[in-house]
Amino acid sequence: MNETATVRTTCPYCGVGCGVLIARDAHGAVSVQGDPEHPANFGRLCSKGSALGETIGHEGRLLHPEILGASAAWDEALNEVANRFRRTIARHGPDSVAFYVSGQLLTEDYYVANKLMKGFIGSGNIDTNSRLCMSSSVAGHKRAFGEDVVPGCYEDLEQADLIVLVGSNAAWCHPILFHRIAKAKKQNPALRIVSIDPRRTATCEQADLHLSLKPGSDVALFNGLLTYLRRNDRLNFAFLEHHVRGFSSTLEQAQATMPSIPAVADACGLKEDEIATFFQWFARTEKTVTAWSQGVNQSSSGSDKVNAIINVHLATGRIGKPGMGPFSFTGQPNAMGGREVGGLSNQLAAHMELDNPGHWQIVSRFWKAPQLARKPGLKAVELFQAIAAGHIKALWVMATNPAVSLPDVKAVRRALKSCEFVVVSDCEDETDLKAYAHVRLPALAWGEKDGTVTNSERRISRQRPFLNPPQEAKPDWWLVTEIARRMGYGEAFPYRSVYEIFREHARLSGFCNEGQRVFDISLLAEFDARAYDTLQPIQWPVTDRRPYGTARLFGDGRFAHPDGKARMLALQPKAPVNAVDEAYPLILNTGRIRDQWHTMTRTGRSPRLNQHINEPYAEIHPIDAARFAIQNGALCRLESRWGEALARARIGEDQRPGSVFLPMHWSDRYAKRALANALVNPVADPISGEPESKHTPIRIEAYQPAWHGFLISRKPQDVPDTSWRVTVRGDGYWLYELAGEAAPEHWPIWARRTIAGQLEGDEWLDFVDPAIGRYRCALLRQGRLMSCLFISPTHELPPRNWLVGLFTEAELPVKSRMSLLAGRPASAEDDQGRIVCACFSVGLNTLTRAIRAEGYTTPEQIGAALRAGTNCGSCIPELQTLLAASSMKVTSR
Ligand code: SF4
Repeated sequence: MNETATVRTTCPYCGVGCGVLIARDAHGAVSVQGDPEHPANFGRLCSKGSALGETIGHEGRLLHPEILGASAAWDEALNEVANRFRRTIARHGPDSVAFYVSGQLLTEDYYVANKLMKGFIGSGNIDTNSRLCMSSSVAGHKRAFGEDVVPGCYEDLEQADLIVLVGSNAAWCHPILFHRIAKAKKQNPALRIVSIDPRRTATCEQADLHLSLKPGSDVALFNGLLTYLRRNDRLNFAFLEHHVRGFSSTLEQAQATMPSIPAVADACGLKEDEIATFFQWFARTEKTVTAWSQGVNQSSSGSDKVNAIINVHLATGRIGKPGMGPFSFTGQPNAMGGREVGGLSNQLAAHMELDNPGHWQIVSRFWKAPQLARKPGLKAVELFQAIAAGHIKALWVMATNPAVSLPDVKAVRRALKSCEFVVVSDCEDETDLKAYAHVRLPALAWGEKDGTVTNSERRISRQRPFLNPPQEAKPDWWLVTEIARRMGYGEAFPYRSVYEIFREHARLSGFCNEGQRVFDISLLAEFDARAYDTLQPIQWPVTDRRPYGTARLFGDGRFAHPDGKARMLALQPKAPVNAVDEAYPLILNTGRIRDQWHTMTRTGRSPRLNQHINEPYAEIHPIDAARFAIQNGALCRLESRWGEALARARIGEDQRPGSVFLPMHWSDRYAKRALANALVNPVADPISGEPESKHTPIRIEAYQPAWHGFLISRKPQDVPDTSWRVTVRGDGYWLYELAGEAAPEHWPIWARRTIAGQLEGDEWLDFVDPAIGRYRCALLRQGRLMSCLFISPTHELPPRNWLVGLFTEAELPVKSRMSLLAGRPASAEDDQGRIVCACFSVGLNTLTRAIRAEGYTTPEQIGAALRAGTNCGSCIPELQTLLAASSMKVTSR
């Protein structure tokens, strides 16, 4: 590997799939920039992508194979896995074992894992965490188009005159796409944006219309839109006649269920005039893109919601042409690649179906695998239920953490504990899954991996290594190949390098494919190592007829169903499975935040990313807060029929009354009692198997521990077990948010025991007020602040950002010492507030003061003065919110 050459690779986080340029200097220091030539991002990176350089160290990595917690040689560990799987299959049959894999895997890793399980073990029991984020879109695409195909491309978002975002907080979850949308709106003032989401999110800052619909009522809304389009003669009958089946029954059902705007308003909890505006805009705007994400997919009727959206695009013929079409934004970096190789338990490889005998023959012949699985395997939620029931006896989890991310996660943990044999292959050491693993296999991390990923617009890009594999860590494809060989399938797994796997995958896509399957990259099948290495980002299909890839599909009205026609589906709006009741009167909605990714194994390491939101919070509407006596900034307890969690209350009107939002990122590693999925109901869409992560009935109450506190220290501390705890890694410090149900007898003694690493000559500053239960202390070394601890009987504690600032001082001035002991900053300017711009650490208070004092009205003015928003731009929607709030205050004065 050339240590100083620039490497072109791809961001490992969301489904936008941005190109990244890595440069290393002669000392090995890595710098990360957006790739100006990558067609997904043209040089931009969001906050997460920009901070990638902070996540690539070897600290916290799993670097050696382990059996029962003890280091083992590779041979020993691989033989143990192969033997245990072989013995289990011999005794209990192929369906007694399973793989649970991940959208973090590269396509080549995914391909061999699927080939081993379905082709040679002979079971369909391989499923993926992509089941949790986009399997409803897969089901919707297959039902409508005959194949899992996203018809459009990112450019359509720039060419549209109307963009409808449904259940998508793109500003936080697909930031670079959102940036492209915002830029397009600036260049084309006629472009309108509609956000359809129960929650008012950062995305709404760009929206001309926000429809805060009742959770789960999307099918009603789109059925109503279809009725409206028919009534107003806005359907494309020529397209319907030649290219679509199922129109009459679909329209009939739509008219029967949603005959009028008042009916839609009633079903969706919206005002009639806002619905009328949306319907009019949609009816009159030919160039319309409807994009959706997890808010649509993660539902017990997610597949129907997807088809309800596709229905209106088919009815208007707005599909596969510039600036128009239905568009699913995928959550993970390689969710799409996993779909291509059959990573879901109900698929075969290369977009073929397990329940299609012709497809079965093709794959069986190609792999020379007569024992190829004949029936679909278990989907994620069912899979862990089958483990709990004792049906699955050996499980291999690759690059994901079901002990945090699956619904009803406490039941999942019990299932893992009961499983006879659990293998975990991961690049991370300290995950919540560690406790359940019998064998652990060290895998490569981003920066070391070599392979391909496919983004939301079907674009295949290379992930290229720029770091050497550390110690004994190995590629995932190598692990699977070695196990396959040891299980006796060596002939079918001859791979020595990753491009050989890619070639086979590309060959299979064209095998016996006379144009029946849209997924076809057969032109790439003859790649040699060099061609593979220099592969430029390209959208599939890539064939002799389409050598430069394909931006759009279905524009000619030819779909992948055998008769070439798309299908509209008659849909009955359905309520979520578990309704609120007296005992559990609120709806829990879970999701992502701007600067964290999944279970924070990588982003939690980045001090920059930990600044924006650094602890689990529950967003609650003021009406509900008043009803349940919850105070802003205090801790609250959320409880469902499946479990409980604690979180900091954030009260605000962005939430719909009756709904509570809780981010899903915090694991036991970073917080105690904060698992969002402990609450989430294990209900799934019956067609796609995707869990209903956006709708669980809950109740909330104030959580009133005996004490609240926090500790900030330059060094990580082994904090005693407390009732609630959050660990945050900052730039040069560690912050621990704490709360306890019983207070120690003497806080000074507790503090001296808790803060480790004191030296003789260190200075203690103490303040104790036993009457009201307040305590604060600071440890200084030669005048430099080393640690500070603040305890209070209430949640009202000093601003952390002010104290964190004191850690940058080489020696604390007298003024700071006094304010430290007084527990408040000497002046308001010392507290810049919660960080909004992570790139330049610009806080909320600083921004608010500057907006007020200088009268700024645009993010550009703020950027020129404070630099906020001038790097990755991820905070611009929040800057717009602050500007809007300020202008409202000025207007109302
Ligand atoms: Fe990575 Fe951000 Fe691009 Fe997503 S939008 S791929 S997280 S840089």
